[in-house]
Amino acid sequence: MDSTGTSDQPPPRLPARETWRALYAHFRPHRWTVALGASLALVGTVAGLAQPLAAKSLVDRLGEDQSITGVLILLTALVLVGTAIEAVGAYILERTAESVVLAARRSLIGRLLRLRLTEMDRTQPGDLMSRVTSDTTLLRAVTTQSIVSAATGGLAFVATIVLMAVMDPVLLGVTLGVIVLIGSCVAVVMPKIARSTQRAQEAVAEISTVLERAFGAFRTVKASGAEERETAVVAAAATEAWRHGVRSAKWQSVAWSSVGLAVQVSFLAVLGIGGARVASGAISISTLVAFLLFLFYLIDPVSRMVEAATQYQQGSAAIARIVEAERLQTEELTTDERPSAQPPSPASVAFEEVTFSYRDDLPPVHQGVSFQIPGAGMTAFVGPSGAGKTTVFALIERFYEATGGRVLVDGKDVRGWPLAELRAAMGYVEQDAPVLAGTLRENLVFAAPDATDEQITEVLVKARLDTLVERLPDGLNTVVGHRGSKLSGGERQRVAIARALLRKPRLLLMDEATSQLDAVNEMALRDVVAEVSKEVTVLVVAHRLSTVTLADRIVVMDAGKVRAVGTHAELVAGDPLYGELAATQFLSHRTG
Ligand code: ADP
Repeated sequence: MDSTGTSDQPPPRLPARETWRALYAHFRPHRWTVALGASLALVGTVAGLAQPLAAKSLVDRLGEDQSITGVLILLTALVLVGTAIEAVGAYILERTAESVVLAARRSLIGRLLRLRLTEMDRTQPGDLMSRVTSDTTLLRAVTTQSIVSAATGGLAFVATIVLMAVMDPVLLGVTLGVIVLIGSCVAVVMPKIARSTQRAQEAVAEISTVLERAFGAFRTVKASGAEERETAVVAAAATEAWRHGVRSAKWQSVAWSSVGLAVQVSFLAVLGIGGARVASGAISISTLVAFLLFLFYLIDPVSRMVEAATQYQQGSAAIARIVEAERLQTEELTTDERPSAQPPSPASVAFEEVTFSYRDDLPPVHQGVSFQIPGAGMTAFVGPSGAGKTTVFALIERFYEATGGRVLVDGKDVRGWPLAELRAAMGYVEQDAPVLAGTLRENLVFAAPDATDEQITEVLVKARLDTLVERLPDGLNTVVGHRGSKLSGGERQRVAIARALLRKPRLLLMDEATSQLDAVNEMALRDVVAEVSKEVTVLVVAHRLSTVTLADRIVVMDAGKVRAVGTHAELVAGDPLYGELAATQFLSHRTG
Protein backbone atom coordinates (compact mmCIF):
# COMPACT_ATOMS: atom_id res chain seq x y z
CA MET A 1 0.00 0.00 0.00
CA ASP A 2 2.81 2.34 -0.46
CA SER A 3 1.21 5.28 -2.02
CA THR A 4 2.52 6.96 -5.07
CA GLY A 5 0.22 9.64 -6.34
CA THR A 6 1.96 9.52 -9.66
CA SER A 7 1.48 5.81 -10.29
CA ASP A 8 -0.67 4.78 -13.22
CA GLN A 9 -1.87 1.68 -11.40
CA PRO A 10 -5.61 1.78 -10.86
CA PRO A 11 -6.25 2.74 -7.24
CA PRO A 12 -7.54 -0.05 -4.98
CA ARG A 13 -11.31 -0.23 -5.18
CA LEU A 14 -13.76 -1.85 -2.86
CA PRO A 15 -16.61 -3.86 -4.38
CA ALA A 16 -19.77 -1.74 -4.44
CA ARG A 17 -21.46 -3.77 -1.70
CA GLU A 18 -18.51 -3.48 0.63
CA THR A 19 -18.28 0.26 0.00
CA TRP A 20 -21.91 0.60 0.90
CA ARG A 21 -21.54 -1.62 3.97
CA ALA A 22 -18.48 0.26 5.22
CA LEU A 23 -20.11 3.66 4.72
CA TYR A 24 -23.32 2.46 6.32
CA ALA A 25 -21.36 1.22 9.35
CA HIS A 26 -20.17 4.79 9.91
CA PHE A 27 -23.68 6.20 9.44
CA ARG A 28 -25.62 3.60 11.43
CA PRO A 29 -24.85 4.83 14.99
CA HIS A 30 -26.10 8.28 13.99
CA ARG A 31 -29.15 7.30 11.94
CA TRP A 32 -31.70 8.66 14.42
CA THR A 33 -29.83 11.92 14.93
CA VAL A 34 -29.64 12.38 11.16
CA ALA A 35 -33.37 11.64 10.92
CA LEU A 36 -34.05 14.24 13.63
CA GLY A 37 -31.83 16.85 11.95
CA ALA A 38 -33.44 16.19 8.58
CA SER A 39 -36.97 16.39 10.06
CA LEU A 40 -36.19 19.69 11.75
CA ALA A 41 -34.72 21.09 8.56
CA LEU A 42 -37.90 19.98 6.79
CA VAL A 43 -40.17 21.58 9.42
CA GLY A 44 -38.16 24.79 9.04
CA THR A 45 -38.68 24.68 5.29
CA VAL A 46 -42.43 24.12 5.67
CA ALA A 47 -42.62 27.05 8.11
CA GLY A 48 -40.82 29.07 5.46
CA LEU A 49 -43.44 28.05 2.90
CA ALA A 50 -46.22 29.22 5.20
CA GLN A 51 -44.76 32.73 5.27
CA PRO A 52 -46.15 33.85 1.91
CA LEU A 53 -49.61 32.67 3.00
CA ALA A 54 -49.40 34.74 6.16
CA ALA A 55 -48.07 37.67 4.14
CA LYS A 56 -51.01 37.36 1.76
CA SER A 57 -53.46 37.40 4.65
CA LEU A 58 -51.65 40.47 6.00
CA VAL A 59 -52.05 42.35 2.74
CA ASP A 60 -55.67 41.27 2.43
CA ARG A 61 -56.42 42.61 5.90
CA LEU A 62 -54.67 45.87 5.10
CA GLY A 63 -56.97 46.25 2.10
CA GLU A 64 -60.00 45.52 4.19
CA ASP A 65 -58.92 47.96 6.88
CA GLN A 66 -58.77 45.23 9.50
CA SER A 67 -56.31 44.99 12.40
CA ILE A 68 -53.12 43.37 11.34
CA THR A 69 -51.52 42.93 14.79
CA GLY A 70 -52.50 39.28 15.12
CA VAL A 71 -51.23 38.37 11.65
CA LEU A 72 -48.09 40.42 12.17
CA ILE A 73 -47.32 38.53 15.35
CA LEU A 74 -48.05 35.25 13.57
CA LEU A 75 -45.80 36.21 10.68
CA THR A 76 -42.96 37.24 13.01
CA ALA A 77 -43.36 34.04 14.99
CA LEU A 78 -43.30 32.00 11.77
CA VAL A 79 -40.12 33.72 10.63
CA LEU A 80 -38.38 33.34 13.98
CA VAL A 81 -39.51 29.81 14.75
CA GLY A 82 -38.98 28.67 11.19
CA THR A 83 -35.48 30.08 11.08
CA ALA A 84 -34.62 28.71 14.51
CA ILE A 85 -35.88 25.22 13.71
CA GLU A 86 -34.06 25.19 10.41
CA ALA A 87 -30.87 26.36 12.10
CA VAL A 88 -31.14 23.70 14.79
CA GLY A 89 -31.75 21.06 12.13
CA ALA A 90 -28.73 22.22 10.12
CA TYR A 91 -26.62 22.32 13.28
CA ILE A 92 -27.63 18.79 14.26
CA LEU A 93 -26.70 17.52 10.80
CA GLU A 94 -23.33 19.28 10.79
CA ARG A 95 -22.59 18.15 14.34
CA THR A 96 -23.43 14.58 13.42
CA ALA A 97 -21.17 14.86 10.41
CA GLU A 98 -18.33 15.94 12.68
CA SER A 99 -19.13 13.06 15.04
CA VAL A 100 -18.87 10.60 12.17
CA VAL A 101 -15.41 11.98 11.36
CA LEU A 102 -14.40 11.85 15.03
CA ALA A 103 -15.51 8.23 15.41
CA ALA A 104 -13.69 7.23 12.23
CA ARG A 105 -10.52 9.00 13.38
CA ARG A 106 -10.67 7.47 16.83
CA SER A 107 -11.06 3.95 15.58
CA LEU A 108 -8.33 4.42 12.99
CA ILE A 109 -5.86 5.96 15.44
CA GLY A 110 -6.57 3.16 17.92
CA ARG A 111 -5.68 0.61 15.28
CA LEU A 112 -2.73 2.37 13.71
CA LEU A 113 -0.86 2.73 16.99
CA ARG A 114 -1.23 -1.02 17.48
CA LEU A 115 0.00 -1.99 14.02
CA ARG A 116 2.38 -4.88 13.80
CA LEU A 117 5.89 -3.87 12.87
CA THR A 118 5.72 -6.08 9.77
CA GLU A 119 2.88 -3.86 8.56
CA MET A 120 4.69 -0.69 9.58
CA ASP A 121 7.71 -1.80 7.54
CA ARG A 122 5.48 -1.98 4.45
CA THR A 123 3.77 1.38 4.89
CA GLN A 124 4.67 5.04 5.01
CA PRO A 125 3.85 6.93 8.21
CA GLY A 126 2.89 10.03 6.19
CA ASP A 127 0.43 8.00 4.14
CA LEU A 128 -1.17 6.54 7.27
CA MET A 129 -1.31 10.00 8.82
CA SER A 130 -3.17 11.41 5.86
CA ARG A 131 -5.70 8.58 6.04
CA VAL A 132 -6.48 9.68 9.60
CA THR A 133 -6.50 13.40 8.92
CA SER A 134 -7.57 13.91 5.33
CA ASP A 135 -9.56 10.88 4.15
CA THR A 136 -11.80 10.83 7.19
CA THR A 137 -13.02 14.37 6.41
CA LEU A 138 -14.55 13.07 3.18
CA LEU A 139 -16.90 10.97 5.29
CA ARG A 140 -18.44 14.17 6.59
CA ALA A 141 -20.72 14.90 3.65
CA VAL A 142 -21.54 11.37 2.60
CA THR A 143 -22.82 10.17 5.95
CA THR A 144 -25.22 13.06 6.54
CA GLN A 145 -25.75 15.56 3.75
CA SER A 146 -25.88 13.05 0.93
CA ILE A 147 -28.22 10.73 2.81
CA VAL A 148 -30.57 13.61 3.60
CA SER A 149 -30.38 14.88 0.01
CA ALA A 150 -31.00 11.42 -1.37
CA ALA A 151 -33.95 10.83 0.97
CA THR A 152 -35.68 14.20 0.52
CA GLY A 153 -34.81 14.39 -3.17
CA GLY A 154 -36.04 10.82 -3.69
CA LEU A 155 -39.33 11.50 -1.92
CA ALA A 156 -40.00 14.69 -3.83
CA PHE A 157 -39.05 12.89 -7.05
CA VAL A 158 -41.49 10.05 -6.43
CA ALA A 159 -44.27 12.46 -5.40
CA THR A 160 -43.82 14.54 -8.53
CA ILE A 161 -43.71 11.45 -10.73
CA VAL A 162 -46.95 10.17 -9.17
CA LEU A 163 -48.65 13.50 -9.87
CA MET A 164 -47.35 13.43 -13.43
CA ALA A 165 -48.64 9.89 -13.87
CA VAL A 166 -52.07 11.06 -12.83
CA MET A 167 -51.95 13.84 -15.45
CA ASP A 168 -50.76 11.83 -18.39
CA PRO A 169 -48.92 8.50 -18.30
CA VAL A 170 -47.75 8.90 -21.90
CA LEU A 171 -45.97 12.18 -21.25
CA LEU A 172 -44.56 10.69 -18.06
CA GLY A 173 -43.17 7.84 -20.16
CA VAL A 174 -41.51 10.38 -22.44
CA THR A 175 -40.07 12.28 -19.47
CA LEU A 176 -38.77 9.17 -17.75
CA GLY A 177 -37.32 7.91 -21.03
CA VAL A 178 -35.22 11.06 -21.36
CA ILE A 179 -34.23 11.05 -17.68
CA VAL A 180 -33.19 7.38 -17.80
CA LEU A 181 -31.18 8.01 -20.98
CA ILE A 182 -29.27 10.96 -19.57
CA GLY A 183 -29.17 9.33 -16.13
CA SER A 184 -27.28 6.37 -17.61
CA CYS A 185 -24.68 8.79 -18.97
CA VAL A 186 -24.38 10.27 -15.47
CA ALA A 187 -24.03 6.75 -14.05
CA VAL A 188 -21.04 6.19 -16.34
CA VAL A 189 -19.43 9.42 -15.11
CA MET A 190 -19.95 8.70 -11.40
CA PRO A 191 -17.21 6.07 -10.91
CA LYS A 192 -14.79 8.48 -12.60
CA ILE A 193 -15.46 10.97 -9.80
CA ALA A 194 -14.64 8.26 -7.27
CA ARG A 195 -11.44 7.33 -9.08
CA SER A 196 -10.23 10.92 -9.44
CA THR A 197 -11.04 11.64 -5.82
CA GLN A 198 -9.11 8.58 -4.73
CA ARG A 199 -6.13 9.55 -6.85
CA ALA A 200 -6.27 13.06 -5.42
CA GLN A 201 -6.34 11.62 -1.90
CA GLU A 202 -3.36 9.44 -2.71
CA ALA A 203 -1.48 12.48 -3.93
CA VAL A 204 -2.34 14.27 -0.67
CA ALA A 205 -0.96 11.26 1.18
CA GLU A 206 2.18 11.52 -0.91
CA ILE A 207 2.57 15.14 0.22
CA SER A 208 2.42 13.99 3.86
CA THR A 209 4.87 11.18 3.17
CA VAL A 210 7.47 13.42 1.57
CA LEU A 211 7.05 16.13 4.19
CA GLU A 212 7.35 13.59 6.97
CA ARG A 213 10.55 12.31 5.39
CA ALA A 214 11.98 15.81 5.05
CA PHE A 215 11.05 16.97 8.55
CA GLY A 216 12.26 13.69 10.01
CA ALA A 217 15.75 14.37 8.68
CA PHE A 218 15.64 18.15 8.59
CA ARG A 219 19.32 18.71 9.26
CA THR A 220 20.30 16.13 6.67
CA VAL A 221 18.05 17.87 4.13
CA LYS A 222 19.80 21.16 4.82
CA ALA A 223 23.29 19.72 4.98
CA SER A 224 22.70 17.91 1.69
CA GLY A 225 21.37 21.07 0.06
CA ALA A 226 18.28 19.06 -0.78
CA GLU A 227 15.69 21.75 -0.02
CA GLU A 228 15.04 22.48 -3.68
CA ARG A 229 14.74 18.84 -4.64
CA GLU A 230 12.47 17.94 -1.73
CA THR A 231 10.34 21.00 -2.48
CA ALA A 232 10.06 19.83 -6.06
CA VAL A 233 8.93 16.38 -4.94
CA VAL A 234 6.28 17.84 -2.63
CA ALA A 235 5.20 20.29 -5.31
CA ALA A 236 4.90 17.43 -7.81
CA ALA A 237 2.63 15.58 -5.42
CA ALA A 238 0.62 18.75 -4.83
CA THR A 239 0.26 19.23 -8.59
CA GLU A 240 -0.86 15.63 -8.88
CA ALA A 241 -3.52 16.29 -6.23
CA TRP A 242 -4.60 19.37 -8.17
CA ARG A 243 -4.72 17.44 -11.45
CA HIS A 244 -6.98 14.75 -10.05
CA GLY A 245 -9.04 17.34 -8.15
CA VAL A 246 -9.61 19.17 -11.42
CA ARG A 247 -10.46 15.92 -13.16
CA SER A 248 -13.02 15.19 -10.48
CA ALA A 249 -14.40 18.72 -10.89
CA LYS A 250 -14.70 18.11 -14.62
CA TRP A 251 -16.76 14.95 -14.15
CA GLN A 252 -18.83 16.65 -11.50
CA SER A 253 -19.69 19.48 -13.84
CA VAL A 254 -20.61 16.93 -16.51
CA ALA A 255 -22.96 15.32 -14.00
CA TRP A 256 -24.42 18.66 -13.00
CA SER A 257 -25.01 19.93 -16.49
CA SER A 258 -26.68 16.62 -17.29
CA VAL A 259 -29.44 17.53 -14.86
CA GLY A 260 -30.16 20.71 -16.79
CA LEU A 261 -29.87 18.85 -20.06
CA ALA A 262 -32.26 16.13 -18.93
CA VAL A 263 -34.89 18.69 -18.01
CA GLN A 264 -34.43 20.73 -21.19
CA VAL A 265 -34.60 17.69 -23.45
CA SER A 266 -37.62 16.36 -21.54
CA PHE A 267 -39.22 19.78 -21.93
CA LEU A 268 -38.75 19.74 -25.68
CA ALA A 269 -39.90 16.14 -26.00
CA VAL A 270 -42.95 16.75 -23.83
CA LEU A 271 -43.72 19.93 -25.73
CA GLY A 272 -43.53 18.10 -29.08
CA ILE A 273 -45.36 14.95 -28.12
CA GLY A 274 -47.69 16.78 -25.72
CA GLY A 275 -48.57 19.29 -28.46
CA ALA A 276 -49.46 16.42 -30.77
CA ARG A 277 -51.60 14.87 -28.03
CA VAL A 278 -53.38 18.17 -27.44
CA ALA A 279 -54.01 18.46 -31.20
CA SER A 280 -55.42 14.93 -31.31
CA GLY A 281 -57.59 15.73 -28.30
CA ALA A 282 -55.98 13.11 -26.08
CA ILE A 283 -55.21 15.67 -23.37
CA SER A 284 -56.34 19.21 -22.66
CA ILE A 285 -54.00 22.16 -23.03
CA SER A 286 -54.20 22.85 -19.30
CA THR A 287 -52.92 19.31 -18.60
CA LEU A 288 -49.94 19.98 -20.83
CA VAL A 289 -49.19 23.27 -19.08
CA ALA A 290 -49.47 21.67 -15.64
CA PHE A 291 -47.27 18.81 -16.77
CA LEU A 292 -44.60 21.21 -18.00
CA LEU A 293 -44.68 23.02 -14.66
CA PHE A 294 -44.19 19.74 -12.85
CA LEU A 295 -41.28 19.03 -15.14
CA PHE A 296 -39.53 22.15 -13.91
CA TYR A 297 -40.40 21.25 -10.39
CA LEU A 298 -38.44 18.03 -10.98
CA ILE A 299 -35.13 19.93 -11.30
CA ASP A 300 -34.66 20.30 -7.56
CA PRO A 301 -35.10 16.66 -6.49
CA VAL A 302 -33.03 15.38 -9.41
CA SER A 303 -30.26 17.87 -8.57
CA ARG A 304 -30.30 16.69 -4.98
CA MET A 305 -30.06 13.08 -6.02
CA VAL A 306 -27.14 13.83 -8.32
CA GLU A 307 -25.47 15.75 -5.50
CA ALA A 308 -25.97 12.79 -3.18
CA ALA A 309 -24.51 10.46 -5.78
CA THR A 310 -21.48 12.72 -6.26
CA GLN A 311 -20.83 12.86 -2.54
CA TYR A 312 -21.26 9.11 -2.36
CA GLN A 313 -18.54 8.70 -4.96
CA GLN A 314 -16.17 10.92 -3.00
CA GLY A 315 -17.04 9.08 0.19
CA SER A 316 -16.44 5.74 -1.49
CA ALA A 317 -12.98 6.91 -2.53
CA ALA A 318 -12.17 7.81 1.06
CA ILE A 319 -13.71 4.71 2.56
CA ALA A 320 -11.61 2.49 0.29
CA ARG A 321 -8.46 4.06 1.76
CA ILE A 322 -9.80 3.95 5.31
CA VAL A 323 -10.81 0.30 5.03
CA GLU A 324 -7.39 -0.49 3.58
CA ALA A 325 -5.76 1.01 6.68
CA GLU A 326 -8.23 -0.75 8.95
CA ARG A 327 -7.31 -4.08 7.42
CA LEU A 328 -3.64 -3.80 8.37
CA GLN A 329 -2.78 -6.32 11.04
CA THR A 330 -2.58 -5.09 14.59
CA GLU A 331 -1.17 -6.59 17.75
CA GLU A 332 -3.66 -8.06 20.20
CA LEU A 333 -2.60 -5.56 22.84
CA THR A 334 -5.78 -4.30 24.47
CA THR A 335 -5.86 -1.22 26.66
CA ASP A 336 -7.61 -2.99 29.51
CA GLU A 337 -4.94 -5.67 29.57
CA ARG A 338 -3.10 -4.60 32.69
CA PRO A 339 0.23 -6.21 33.25
CA SER A 340 0.03 -8.35 36.37
CA ALA A 341 2.31 -7.59 39.31
CA GLN A 342 5.77 -8.75 38.34
CA PRO A 343 7.95 -10.65 40.71
CA PRO A 344 11.06 -8.50 40.93
CA SER A 345 13.36 -11.35 39.91
CA PRO A 346 15.53 -10.90 36.82
CA ALA A 347 14.20 -12.62 33.69
CA SER A 348 15.99 -15.41 31.86
CA VAL A 349 16.13 -15.48 28.06
CA ALA A 350 16.73 -18.35 25.68
CA PHE A 351 16.69 -18.81 21.92
CA GLU A 352 16.15 -22.35 20.60
CA GLU A 353 17.13 -22.86 16.97
CA VAL A 354 15.44 -19.60 16.00
CA THR A 355 15.05 -18.85 12.31
CA PHE A 356 13.67 -15.55 11.11
CA SER A 357 13.36 -13.38 8.05
CA TYR A 358 11.74 -9.95 7.91
CA ARG A 359 9.73 -10.85 4.84
CA ASP A 360 9.15 -14.03 2.90
CA ASP A 361 11.01 -12.64 -0.07
CA LEU A 362 14.05 -11.59 1.97
CA PRO A 363 16.92 -13.88 2.93
CA PRO A 364 16.79 -15.20 6.51
CA VAL A 365 18.41 -12.96 9.12
CA HIS A 366 18.56 -15.71 11.75
CA GLN A 367 19.47 -19.20 10.67
CA GLY A 368 19.18 -21.32 13.79
CA VAL A 369 20.17 -18.99 16.62
CA SER A 370 20.50 -20.69 20.02
CA PHE A 371 21.73 -19.37 23.34
CA GLN A 372 20.74 -19.41 26.99
CA ILE A 373 20.98 -16.46 29.34
CA PRO A 374 20.18 -17.03 33.01
CA GLY A 375 18.53 -14.34 35.15
CA ALA A 376 20.73 -11.39 36.15
CA GLY A 377 24.17 -10.56 34.88
CA MET A 378 25.22 -8.80 31.74
CA THR A 379 25.43 -10.39 28.34
CA ALA A 380 27.02 -8.64 25.39
CA PHE A 381 26.14 -9.42 21.79
CA VAL A 382 28.94 -8.76 19.38
CA GLY A 383 29.55 -9.45 15.75
CA PRO A 384 29.87 -7.76 12.40
CA SER A 385 27.21 -5.32 11.36
CA GLY A 386 24.18 -7.09 9.91
CA ALA A 387 24.84 -10.27 11.88
CA GLY A 388 21.35 -10.10 13.39
CA LYS A 389 22.03 -8.72 16.88
CA THR A 390 19.34 -6.02 16.91
CA THR A 391 16.95 -8.57 15.47
CA VAL A 392 17.52 -10.70 18.60
CA PHE A 393 16.09 -7.84 20.67
CA ALA A 394 13.18 -7.34 18.27
CA LEU A 395 12.25 -11.00 18.68
CA ILE A 396 12.52 -10.84 22.48
CA GLU A 397 10.18 -7.81 22.51
CA ARG A 398 8.00 -9.75 20.06
CA PHE A 399 8.02 -6.87 17.60
CA TYR A 400 8.30 -9.69 15.09
CA GLU A 401 7.65 -13.40 15.46
CA ALA A 402 10.25 -16.07 14.78
CA THR A 403 9.58 -18.11 11.66
CA GLY A 404 11.01 -21.23 13.30
CA GLY A 405 12.29 -22.30 16.70
CA ARG A 406 11.36 -20.71 19.99
CA VAL A 407 12.14 -17.50 21.87
CA LEU A 408 11.75 -18.04 25.61
CA VAL A 409 11.55 -15.48 28.39
CA ASP A 410 11.46 -17.04 31.87
CA GLY A 411 11.30 -20.40 30.15
CA LYS A 412 8.00 -19.47 28.48
CA ASP A 413 7.55 -18.99 24.74
CA VAL A 414 7.03 -15.26 24.07
CA ARG A 415 4.01 -16.17 21.97
CA GLY A 416 2.41 -17.56 25.12
CA TRP A 417 2.90 -14.33 27.10
CA PRO A 418 0.21 -11.64 27.19
CA LEU A 419 1.92 -8.99 25.11
CA ALA A 420 1.47 -6.12 27.57
CA GLU A 421 2.90 -8.24 30.37
CA LEU A 422 5.86 -9.35 28.30
CA ARG A 423 6.76 -5.79 27.37
CA ALA A 424 6.16 -4.53 30.90
CA ALA A 425 8.94 -6.86 32.00
CA MET A 426 11.44 -5.15 29.72
CA GLY A 427 13.18 -1.85 29.27
CA TYR A 428 14.42 -1.14 25.77
CA VAL A 429 17.02 1.42 24.76
CA GLU A 430 16.77 1.74 21.01
CA GLN A 431 19.63 2.24 18.64
CA ASP A 432 18.55 5.66 17.39
CA ALA A 433 16.02 8.45 17.95
CA PRO A 434 15.20 7.34 21.45
CA VAL A 435 13.90 10.77 22.56
CA LEU A 436 10.47 12.14 21.63
CA ALA A 437 9.32 15.73 21.29
CA GLY A 438 8.04 17.12 24.60
CA THR A 439 9.65 17.89 27.93
CA LEU A 440 12.41 15.97 29.59
CA ARG A 441 9.98 14.78 32.24
CA GLU A 442 7.51 13.51 29.66
CA ASN A 443 10.32 11.58 28.08
CA LEU A 444 11.44 10.04 31.32
CA VAL A 445 8.00 8.88 32.43
CA PHE A 446 7.03 7.76 28.94
CA ALA A 447 7.33 4.07 29.81
CA ALA A 448 6.27 4.51 33.46
CA PRO A 449 3.58 7.21 33.70
CA ASP A 450 3.09 6.59 37.43
CA ALA A 451 6.70 7.20 38.42
CA THR A 452 7.17 9.42 41.49
CA ASP A 453 9.54 12.39 41.76
CA GLU A 454 11.85 10.38 44.02
CA GLN A 455 12.06 7.60 41.47
CA ILE A 456 12.80 10.13 38.75
CA THR A 457 15.56 11.72 40.80
CA GLU A 458 17.00 8.30 41.51
CA VAL A 459 17.29 7.30 37.85
CA LEU A 460 18.59 10.75 36.91
CA VAL A 461 21.50 10.19 39.28
CA LYS A 462 21.97 6.66 37.98
CA ALA A 463 22.09 7.79 34.36
CA ARG A 464 24.33 10.74 35.29
CA LEU A 465 21.69 13.18 34.08
CA ASP A 466 21.34 15.03 37.40
CA THR A 467 23.92 17.68 36.57
CA LEU A 468 22.35 18.31 33.16
CA VAL A 469 18.92 18.83 34.73
CA GLU A 470 20.38 21.23 37.30
CA ARG A 471 22.01 23.22 34.52
CA LEU A 472 18.82 23.60 32.48
CA PRO A 473 16.80 26.72 33.35
CA ASP A 474 13.50 24.83 33.22
CA GLY A 475 14.93 21.64 34.71
CA LEU A 476 12.77 18.62 33.96
CA ASN A 477 10.25 20.83 32.20
CA THR A 478 12.72 21.76 29.49
CA VAL A 479 11.36 21.10 26.01
CA VAL A 480 13.76 18.82 24.15
CA GLY A 481 12.69 19.57 20.56
CA HIS A 482 11.67 17.27 17.73
CA ARG A 483 13.26 13.87 18.41
CA GLY A 484 15.25 15.46 21.21
CA SER A 485 17.18 17.70 18.82
CA LYS A 486 18.09 20.11 21.63
CA LEU A 487 20.04 17.41 23.45
CA SER A 488 23.44 16.00 22.54
CA GLY A 489 23.69 12.45 21.26
CA GLY A 490 25.08 11.23 24.56
CA GLU A 491 22.38 13.03 26.53
CA ARG A 492 19.69 11.53 24.34
CA GLN A 493 21.04 8.10 24.98
CA ARG A 494 21.19 8.62 28.73
CA VAL A 495 17.61 9.91 28.72
CA ALA A 496 16.62 6.71 26.95
CA ILE A 497 18.48 4.66 29.54
CA ALA A 498 16.88 6.57 32.43
CA ARG A 499 13.49 6.03 30.83
CA ALA A 500 14.11 2.31 30.50
CA LEU A 501 15.29 2.07 34.13
CA LEU A 502 12.24 3.95 35.38
CA ARG A 503 10.11 1.13 34.03
CA LYS A 504 11.79 -1.09 36.65
CA PRO A 505 12.49 -3.78 34.10
CA ARG A 506 13.42 -7.36 34.83
CA LEU A 507 15.23 -7.44 31.55
CA LEU A 508 17.07 -4.47 30.07
CA LEU A 509 17.83 -4.44 26.36
CA MET A 510 20.37 -1.85 25.28
CA ASP A 511 21.23 -1.47 21.65
CA GLU A 512 24.63 0.15 21.16
CA ALA A 513 23.75 2.29 24.10
CA THR A 514 27.26 3.31 24.90
CA SER A 515 28.42 4.14 21.40
CA GLN A 516 27.89 7.89 21.66
CA LEU A 517 29.13 8.57 25.15
CA ASP A 518 32.35 10.34 25.97
CA ALA A 519 34.96 8.46 27.95
CA VAL A 520 33.99 9.81 31.38
CA ASN A 521 30.31 9.21 30.89
CA GLU A 522 30.94 5.85 29.36
CA MET A 523 32.82 4.68 32.43
CA ALA A 524 30.05 6.08 34.63
CA LEU A 525 27.42 4.29 32.64
CA ARG A 526 29.43 1.10 32.73
CA ASP A 527 29.19 1.26 36.50
CA VAL A 528 25.44 1.81 36.26
CA VAL A 529 25.04 -1.18 34.00
CA ALA A 530 27.23 -3.28 36.30
CA GLU A 531 25.10 -2.21 39.24
CA VAL A 532 21.81 -2.75 37.42
CA SER A 533 22.88 -6.16 36.19
CA LYS A 534 22.98 -7.45 39.76
CA GLU A 535 19.19 -7.29 39.89
CA VAL A 536 18.20 -7.14 36.25
CA THR A 537 19.15 -9.24 33.27
CA VAL A 538 21.02 -6.87 30.97
CA LEU A 539 21.56 -7.60 27.29
CA VAL A 540 23.70 -5.16 25.33
CA VAL A 541 24.51 -4.97 21.66
CA ALA A 542 28.05 -3.87 22.33
CA HIS A 543 30.30 -1.76 20.18
CA ARG A 544 33.18 -1.20 22.51
CA LEU A 545 35.74 -3.32 24.14
CA SER A 546 35.19 -1.53 27.43
CA THR A 547 31.63 -2.86 27.50
CA VAL A 548 32.42 -6.42 26.60
CA THR A 549 35.24 -6.84 29.08
CA LEU A 550 32.67 -6.17 31.78
CA ALA A 551 30.17 -8.71 30.47
CA ASP A 552 29.53 -11.98 32.27
CA ARG A 553 29.19 -13.64 28.91
CA ILE A 554 29.57 -12.62 25.33
CA VAL A 555 27.52 -14.03 22.46
CA VAL A 556 29.42 -13.75 19.19
CA MET A 557 27.10 -13.63 16.18
CA ASP A 558 27.98 -13.86 12.54
CA ALA A 559 25.72 -14.18 9.50
CA GLY A 560 22.60 -15.08 11.45
CA LYS A 561 24.22 -17.68 13.67
CA VAL A 562 25.82 -17.80 17.09
CA ARG A 563 29.50 -18.56 16.56
CA ALA A 564 30.60 -18.77 20.15
CA VAL A 565 29.62 -17.92 23.71
CA GLY A 566 32.13 -17.21 26.46
CA THR A 567 33.96 -14.60 28.47
CA HIS A 568 36.29 -12.10 26.91
CA ALA A 569 39.36 -14.06 27.89
CA GLU A 570 37.93 -17.36 26.63
CA LEU A 571 36.87 -15.90 23.32
CA VAL A 572 40.09 -14.01 22.64
CA ALA A 573 41.83 -17.34 22.98
CA GLY A 574 39.22 -19.49 21.25
CA ASP A 575 37.42 -17.54 18.55
CA PRO A 576 39.35 -16.00 15.67
CA LEU A 577 36.53 -13.60 14.63
CA TYR A 578 36.19 -12.32 18.16
CA GLY A 579 39.94 -11.97 18.41
CA GLU A 580 39.90 -9.86 15.28
CA LEU A 581 37.02 -7.70 16.50
CA ALA A 582 38.62 -7.22 19.89
CA ALA A 583 41.90 -6.27 18.30
CA THR A 584 40.28 -3.46 16.36
CA GLN A 585 38.44 -2.32 19.51
CA PHE A 586 35.50 -1.50 17.35
CA LEU A 587 33.39 -4.51 17.56
CA SER A 588 30.72 -4.07 14.93
CA HIS A 589 32.57 -2.19 12.29
CA ARG A 590 33.75 -5.02 10.15
CA THR A 591 31.27 -5.63 7.38
CA GLY A 592 30.26 -9.10 6.24
P1 ADP B 1 22.98 -6.05 13.57
O1 ADP B 1 22.25 -5.50 14.74
O2 ADP B 1 23.74 -7.28 13.89
O3 ADP B 1 23.81 -5.06 12.85
P2 ADP B 1 20.34 -6.35 12.47
O4 ADP B 1 19.69 -7.37 13.34
O5 ADP B 1 20.01 -4.94 12.70
O6 ADP B 1 21.91 -6.56 12.51
O7 ADP B 1 19.98 -6.67 10.96
C1 ADP B 1 20.22 -7.91 10.37
C2 ADP B 1 19.77 -7.86 8.90
O8 ADP B 1 18.37 -7.65 8.82
C3 ADP B 1 20.42 -6.74 8.13
O9 ADP B 1 20.85 -7.29 6.90
C4 ADP B 1 19.31 -5.74 7.92
O10 ADP B 1 19.47 -5.11 6.68
C5 ADP B 1 18.07 -6.58 7.96
N1 ADP B 1 16.94 -5.84 8.55
C6 ADP B 1 16.91 -5.23 9.76
N2 ADP B 1 15.71 -4.70 10.01
C7 ADP B 1 14.92 -4.97 8.93
C8 ADP B 1 13.56 -4.70 8.58
N3 ADP B 1 12.74 -4.03 9.40
N4 ADP B 1 13.12 -5.14 7.39
C9 ADP B 1 13.93 -5.83 6.56
N5 ADP B 1 15.22 -6.11 6.83
C10 ADP B 1 15.72 -5.71 7.99
